Amino acid sequence: MPLYYVRVEHREKTAVKSGTRVLRPVSGVDTRAYWMPFTHNRYFKERPASRILARAEGAYYTTVDGRRLFDCLSGLWCCPLGHGHPKIVEAVERQLKELDYSPAFQMGHPKIFSLAARIVERAPAGMAHVFFTNSGSEAVDTALKIAIAYHRMKGETSRTRLIGRERAYHGVGIGGISVGGIAPNRDMFAPLLLQNVDHLPHTLNRREMAFSRGQPGWGEHLADELERLATARGPASVAAVIVEPMQGSAGVIVPPNGYLERLREICDRHGILLVFDEVITGFGRLGENFGAQRFGVVPDMVCFAKIVTNGAVPMGGVIVKPEIYDAFMKGPEHAVELFHGYTYSGHPVATAAAHATLDVIDDEGLLERARELEPLLEQAVHSLKGEPGVADIRNIGLAAAVELEPLPGQPGLRALKVFERGIEEGMLYRFTGETIAMAPPFVSTKGEIERMVDKLQTAIRAAC
Ligand code: PLP
Repeated sequence: MPLYYVRVEHREKTAVKSGTRVLRPVSGVDTRAYWMPFTHNRYFKERPASRILARAEGAYYTTVDGRRLFDCLSGLWCCPLGHGHPKIVEAVERQLKELDYSPAFQMGHPKIFSLAARIVERAPAGMAHVFFTNSGSEAVDTALKIAIAYHRMKGETSRTRLIGRERAYHGVGIGGISVGGIAPNRDMFAPLLLQNVDHLPHTLNRREMAFSRGQPGWGEHLADELERLATARGPASVAAVIVEPMQGSAGVIVPPNGYLERLREICDRHGILLVFDEVITGFGRLGENFGAQRFGVVPDMVCFAKIVTNGAVPMGGVIVKPEIYDAFMKGPEHAVELFHGYTYSGHPVATAAAHATLDVIDDEGLLERARELEPLLEQAVHSLKGEPGVADIRNIGLAAAVELEPLPGQPGLRALKVFERGIEEGMLYRFTGETIAMAPPFVSTKGEIERMVDKLQTAIRAAC
């Protein structure tokens, strides 16, 4: 019988394939109607036990069946200040009473202007304006549209090509999956993909860089593929290159030393815009406000989302250099300059959550805290080298990934088993493909980080 509806009193135990222990069935939740995103719906609905979350506080979730889970990925990379932070809760509550919605077009509200200014203050040097969206996917598609439109505004209508990178995750919009490089995210939608896109090679090479700590020393030359592509296509045909400074969703793929710098040089040489998708790395994950600052490379546009509101209310955006904004500020003053925007761009409640998030990051010194925890996470996670099935370990900032050898003939199963055993051990890890990713809250204690890695060792040993 499918376990899509199991009552509290129905306490039968449901064994999952992954281990010797059993996971308890979930209580009182009818799972049938909900089509879950990026989820194995049928598998989940057969085994929802301990995978339905009821509450969260600080660095922990509690499931509907009463299990307490350490939040190893800060939600989906978005809640590093801990859940239910009183200052964010209070700001959101207050905002709902004061101004719950304000039309985004032709109108504004004070807090969105001051938020844009605060984001610019933190942004890489020389960036000056912010366009707000509601998600990372929208931020990426917005940046791509701005890039194309910018060149057109300047009369360079030949610049129609975009360059992404293998293994990149840029969300799920048509633009994002076109420049993205994760095959399953593209294959099902092949007829919709933009045709004018090329991809740089990804920078992961196990032979040359396995078990690197932080930035690998090998791989700078991979950026030269941009020169080759630009030359082959005609440099004046390329509008923009988009990369995540650190590829998060593909499993913490860290840029080789010198790689991003070289991309910047090539873009400069050919008049190509460089876009950093910092949806994961923005607002502290790498111990700096943005990856751009961590790596010392200033792009022309930065996409952000996630941490900007600590995940409490959806918000995203694109930060641009003044030249880009200024290129649009032409024509009659009464005319709209950019035909783009969302009903909820700069939503007042998201704006209030973002202000409170930035306050908390500053007041609690959370960038410093992330920097302080980085060596501890690095040390702990690399201690897993030599564990059964561990093929690679990567880390930077407060992010780390353990890549596993696939079980013969069963790709993805080993990581799923580790994930499920993790839940039994009180840990909510993130698994995709063969990789377990961790990006713990900045408010984690040292003991919690050590425990997160100790329990991963237990789970990996159990998943052989
Ligand atoms: N870009 C990057 C680098 C991401 O990691 C993500 C989400 O994980 C996105 C874009 C898409 O963001 P969203 O899921 O908010 O649309």
